[in-house]
Formats: sequence, structure tokens, C-alpha cells
Amino acid sequence: MSILDKDPASAPEKERAAAVLARTPTGLLINGQWQKSSDGSTFKVENPATGEILTTVASATAADASAAMDAAAHAQESWARTPTRVRAEILRRAFDLVHERSEDLALLMTLEMGKPLAQAHGEVVYGGEFLRWFSEEAVRDYGRYAPVPEGNLRMVVTHKPVGPCLLITPWNFPLAMATRKVAPAIAAGCTMILKPAALTPLTANYFAQIMIDAGLPAGVLNVIPTDSAATVSEPIMSDPRLRKISFTGSTAVGKHLMKVAAENVLRTSMELGGNGPLLVFEDADLDKAVAGAMAAKMRNMGEACTAANRLLVHESIAEEFVARLAQQMSALTLGSGTDDRVDVGPLIDAKARDSVEQLVSDAVARGAEVVVGGRRGDGPGYFYEPTLLRNVPAEARVIGEEIFGPVAPVLTFSDEDEAVALANSTEYGLASYVFTEDFSRGLRIGDRIEFGLVGVNVGVISNAAAPFGGVKQSGLGREGGAEGIAEYTTTQYLGIEDP
Ligand code: NAD
Repeated sequence: MSILDKDPASAPEKERAAAVLARTPTGLLINGQWQKSSDGSTFKVENPATGEILTTVASATAADASAAMDAAAHAQESWARTPTRVRAEILRRAFDLVHERSEDLALLMTLEMGKPLAQAHGEVVYGGEFLRWFSEEAVRDYGRYAPVPEGNLRMVVTHKPVGPCLLITPWNFPLAMATRKVAPAIAAGCTMILKPAALTPLTANYFAQIMIDAGLPAGVLNVIPTDSAATVSEPIMSDPRLRKISFTGSTAVGKHLMKVAAENVLRTSMELGGNGPLLVFEDADLDKAVAGAMAAKMRNMGEACTAANRLLVHESIAEEFVARLAQQMSALTLGSGTDDRVDVGPLIDAKARDSVEQLVSDAVARGAEVVVGGRRGDGPGYFYEPTLLRNVPAEARVIGEEIFGPVAPVLTFSDEDEAVALANSTEYGLASYVFTEDFSRGLRIGDRIEFGLVGVNVGVISNAAAPFGGVKQSGLGREGGAEGIAEYTTTQYLGIEDP
């Protein structure tokens, strides 16, 4: 498998990258002003395809975190009183601006995160949809008015903004993970402090400027990039004015933040890790199943919480499925995401690449067979080949752990009960996929499978209008859909003397 030229390119492409970087704020956004950190510190942002430093970004300190908290707390009351139509129109303008500036956003994501440009454009569309969806939901968050059964009171039930929120996002979907939190918080009338991942702060900053340009008042959205997450999260989470934390990231960090959140009884939304099974039954349409496995496994280089982590295939079709998947995986081109011939970009950093390499070595040491790939790419950048493994023993780490890379282990099953047991044998419960042409079986598996998301005959199901979230150790709460706004509201009951 070849790795294309790792230099992201021709002179015009380099010029375009320089121009986008020059348009991207590199400070902290506090109370509507871009500013340096209180001690002047910065951190570097790297291009994972080349190892080159793209730029440096201000690194927020504890004092900056407190200033952001002050700004969010100060803006909360007037923002909550701002009519929902006004909030909705700001979101709608932001949606339009995301599309107007999609070339910039997509290139920034490719530069700082590595995904191929076409997939970065896909994320602009997906991420932008949360702005449109919640602009529509903002004006439709109804309460109720009714007499109580005894007839002596009228109840007025209203949804109020929960209050200032801390939003912490990961690096794998730099735009969509931000819009999926910021848009419902705005719709609900909450103010917020966004802390993007240190590996990908540029997209978040660029998006924050879009929100300002769309008319968002000062203090509603504050953004504090930092390379020292706990330094900023601790003062904010111990501040009694904070009301909620919404976190997307690893289960380990999520558990830690839930413990910290308990101290002030904060509302929490936790979008954590996954170990998605992809089930292929003997009656599946193999074209659909292979296409679904390619999408669910290879999109975002496998660096997705929704990625298919385990391909569970009925023993009678396993050979053919593996042969077809091997053919498609071998045809993928690895290289810098800025090159439009590339299907698979680099992993986010050396640690991620080494971790994937260790998972594959462990599986091979336990007897797994490498059908495709199985090696890191050489040279600068953090490449790992698309890799297909078969005869993987169930105790291999690649089966039990979240892979977060382009590695597909195949296991076989002999009947539906075994398939369901294998699928559910994980502490995670985020995304799962089922391939069968038997509609009743699809529904039956949906009933039996312990996952928050189930794709039936499709490998990608995320949608702004649908509730996204997991069960078990994949988290709490839902983002998107009608459910998404409820995460940012609290319910008040007014009991009024019956006239
Ligand atoms: P991570 O947990 O290392 O970091 C996530 C965010 O938390 C980053 O912004 C990081 O700076 C911050 N953070 C880390 N330690 C912190 C601390 N002590 N206090 C406060 N903030 C802290 O995860 P990651 O490597 O950025 O992302 C990959 C993980 O995210 C995977 O497990 C993946 O499954 C998960 N993820 C889940 C979803 C979902 O919706 N369920 C979506 C995308 C990614």
C-alpha cells in the first residue's frame, strides 16, 4: 500500500492553507473579545500529515477560565430573556455563514486533524445542520398549562435555560462536536464556555468568529483553548454559577468529570467512547454490508466513537465478506488529506498511531491473521495502513478496546443468539450496525441489542434531527433531535390558585 506524497502540496495549496490560517483567530474569546492568555502562554498546533507546526494558539490559564465564567454568568440573565425568535435567527445566520465559509472550515479541519478534504466537507454539512435544526427547534420548545386533577390549581409548566454551561469537545470532529453542543445551548437560552481539544482548536475558534458575525451577543459563547485542560476545567466546575457540563471524549475522562460534577450537583451530558459491533447475517445483501462496513470503519480513519470496532459475520458468508472487504480496503489510498486522491489520512498523533500498532501486534501475537495492511506508514506524519484482521480471538485487545484507527477485526458467529451475545459483550453501548434483508430480524435485533444507535443496512446514521447518544459506559444524555434541547433546559412548575 503506497503513501502518497506527504508534503501537503503544490504552491497554490500552500498559499490557500496560509490564507485560511491567517483568517483564523488564535486567541481566547472572552466576553466578545479575542485576547491573549493572562500569562501570554501559547501552544502549538500541528499538521498530523507532515508533523509541521501550523500556528500557535493562546493557552488559557485558570485566571482566563474565571474571566470566561464571569462573562458567561453576567450574560445569562439577558440571554435567557432574549426572545427565542431572535436566538433562532442568530443560529440560522450562523448556518448560512458556515456554508459560505465551508472551504475555509473544511481545509482547517484537514490541516489540524488530518481527515481527507471530502470528509471535512461532509463534516461541514453535518456540523452545520445542528445550527439549522436548533434554529427550528428553538421556537418550538413548548411547556403546558392544565388544571390539576383535583381542580383547585392551574399548573403552568415551563422550560427554562439550565444556565451557564461548560462544553468540552474532542479532536476527531472539530466542527460537529462544537455545533452539536453550542447550537442547542443557544436555542435553550444558555450561556457557555467552550473548551476545544488542544489538538484541534483552530476550527472551534473559526466557528466562534462565525457566531460573532451571526450576531451572538458578547459573553454568550466564550472559547478557551488550552493545552492544560484540568487547569481551566477545575476553577469553572467549582464555581457555583456553573450549572451544567456537556462533555464528549473518552470514558476515563468522562468518569472523572462526573465525580467532579457531583460536588456542585451539575447537570451532565456525557458522550463517551464506543466499541461498535457490525453484524452481518447470512441473509444480508453483501454489497450493502461491505459498503456499510467500509463507511462505518474507514470514515474519519476509524477515529469515530461510532466506528464499527468489531465486524461480526455469520460463518456461512464470512469468507466471501472478507474477500470483498479486503478488495475494497486494499484499493484505499493513504496520504495527506489535502490531496484529493487520498481516502485515508494520518492518525491524529504519534500516540494514536502507536496505540493502533500495539493493538494489531497484540492480535497477531494471539493468532490473528492479517489479510490487508498491518503496518505503520513511514516518514513524517502519523500514518497507519487500513488493516483487515481475521481469525481474531475474542480475548484480543482489539476486540475489547476502542480501536480509534483504520483496523477491522472480523469474528464469526453461528446463530442469532450468539451474534447478540457477542455484540452486547462490551461495557460500551453507543453505535451498532445490523445487515439483514429480513425486516423482522432487523427489528428483533434492535430490541435485543444494548446500544443507543442502531443502523439497519446502513453504515452512517448520525443526523441532526435524531437523538445521538449511548447507554452503559458510552454515556448519558442525547445530542440532536428534539431530545437535544432538553439537555439544556430545566422544568419549572407554577401552581396557581384556581380562579
Ligand atoms: P479525551 O477524553 O482525551 O479528551 C476529550 C476532551 O476532554 C478534550 O478537550 C480534552 O482536552 C479534555 N480533557 C482531557 N482531560 C481533561 C480533564 N482532566 N478535565 C477536563 N477536560 C479534560 O478524548 P479525545 O482523545 O479527545 O477523543 C476521543 C474519545 O472521544 C474517544 O473515546 C471517542 O469515542 C470519544 N468520542 C465520543 C463521541 C460521542 O459522541 N460519544 C464523539 C466523539 C468522540
